[in-house]
Amino acid sequence: MTRKERYEYILNYFREHKPNVGTELQFGSAFQLLCATLLSAQCTDKRINAVTPALFNRYPSAKEMAAAEPEDVLEYVSSVSYPNAKSRHLVEMARMLVANYGGEVPDDPKEMTKLPGVGRKTANVMQAVWFGKAAMAVDTHVYRVSRRLGLVPKTANSPLKVEQYLMREIPEEDIPKAHHWLLLHGRYVCRSARPLCEQCAFDAFCPKLLEGSKLD
Ligand code: SF4
Repeated sequence: MTRKERYEYILNYFREHKPNVGTELQFGSAFQLLCATLLSAQCTDKRINAVTPALFNRYPSAKEMAAAEPEDVLEYVSSVSYPNAKSRHLVEMARMLVANYGGEVPDDPKEMTKLPGVGRKTANVMQAVWFGKAAMAVDTHVYRVSRRLGLVPKTANSPLKVEQYLMREIPEEDIPKAHHWLLLHGRYVCRSARPLCEQCAFDAFCPKLLEGSKLD
């Protein structure tokens, strides 16, 4: 099977079986999605959803969070990974939003990545999920699944290279959903340590499985 045929098969499968996908993070505004996405780095969405209702109740917008101190925010996010750095980033990010962007999240990804704690992946999530644009956020799941399934060549050995390759190969209208398709496949089926290949719809042609080599 060629790479082009793999793309067709996989995208058709997801279009048919997962027509309605979206982020599992809970949020009520662009600011809250930005906070939740920032918090979700190296943490589970389940854990983030457990802490954000109280966090957003106390700090519903950038204005309220900008007036807080990192240690105030830390009380709400102490159970997530890297709580000290993340609470500091949240407050600094909120202060910059208030100071430079009228308290609103800018829609320009270049401006977004100027915010403390906001990298390319987070900016792409915002572009796709909130602004509905064709942006491919490559997190650990998207990166792993893309490489295992041979959607990208082995030379695509960084998140940026995988992003650029996927953006070239996936039809523009599928891109916002494709991020979730690949992410959820990685989270629930093609897991990092023990992938559930026997439950995978792509086991007949998955290069990684057929290769029988150590999974990366
Ligand atoms: S067959 Fe296994 S390694 Fe290949 S994509 Fe499916 S779960 Fe991942």
